[in-house]
Amino acid sequence: MIELPKLPYKRDALEPHISQRTIDFHYGQHHASYVKNLNNLIENSIYEKMDLEDIIKNSEGSVFNNAAQVWNHTFYWHCMTPEKGYLPQALLLKNIERDFGSFENFKQLFIKQAATLFGSGWLWLVSDKNGTLSLKQTSNAETPITDNELRPLLTCDVWEHAYYLDQQNQRLAYLNEFWQIINWKFVEKQLTE
Ligand code: MN
Repeated sequence: MIELPKLPYKRDALEPHISQRTIDFHYGQHHASYVKNLNNLIENSIYEKMDLEDIIKNSEGSVFNNAAQVWNHTFYWHCMTPEKGYLPQALLLKNIERDFGSFENFKQLFIKQAATLFGSGWLWLVSDKNGTLSLKQTSNAETPITDNELRPLLTCDVWEHAYYLDQQNQRLAYLNEFWQIINWKFVEKQLTE
C-alpha cells in the first residue's frame, strides 16, 4: 500500500505564488489520484510488496505512469518552500557556476527549457556520476530515477494542471512564480547527502 505523503507546508503556504486552490487540486486531487490508481493497479500483483522506487524501476505502462507520478510529485512539493531568501551556496553554487557559467545563466536556461518543453512533463536539474550538473526534460511521467547514473536535485512540474487555475495557459508566468519559491536548502541536500 503506497501512501500519499504529507505536504511539507500548509496548503495556503505558497501564496501568492501558488494558490491554495491550485494545491487543493494538484495535491488533493491529482497527486492523490495517482496514489489511489497505483494502489488499485498493484493489488495482488508482483508490485504489491515493493517500495515505490522499485515499482518505478521494474514496471511500464499504467503502473509505471502512476508510480512515477507519485514519486515526481512528492519530490516537487519538497522543491518549494514558503521560506524565501535563501540562495544556493557553497558546493551547489560552485557546481552551478562551473557547469552553467553563472547562477543567472542557469536561471535563464532553466526557465527556457521548462517553458519550451512540449506538452506535459517535468524539467529536472540532475547530477551525473561525475557530479556534473545538467538540465533534463522528461515527458509525461518519465523520471530520472530510472537512470542509476543520475541524481535528481530539483524539478518543476510543467503539466498544465500545475498552473492552469492560477495562470491559465501562461506557463512562463508560472515559472517565474516557481523560481521565487525554490527550496534551495532541499536542492543542496540532494547534492550532498
Ligand atoms: Mn502535477
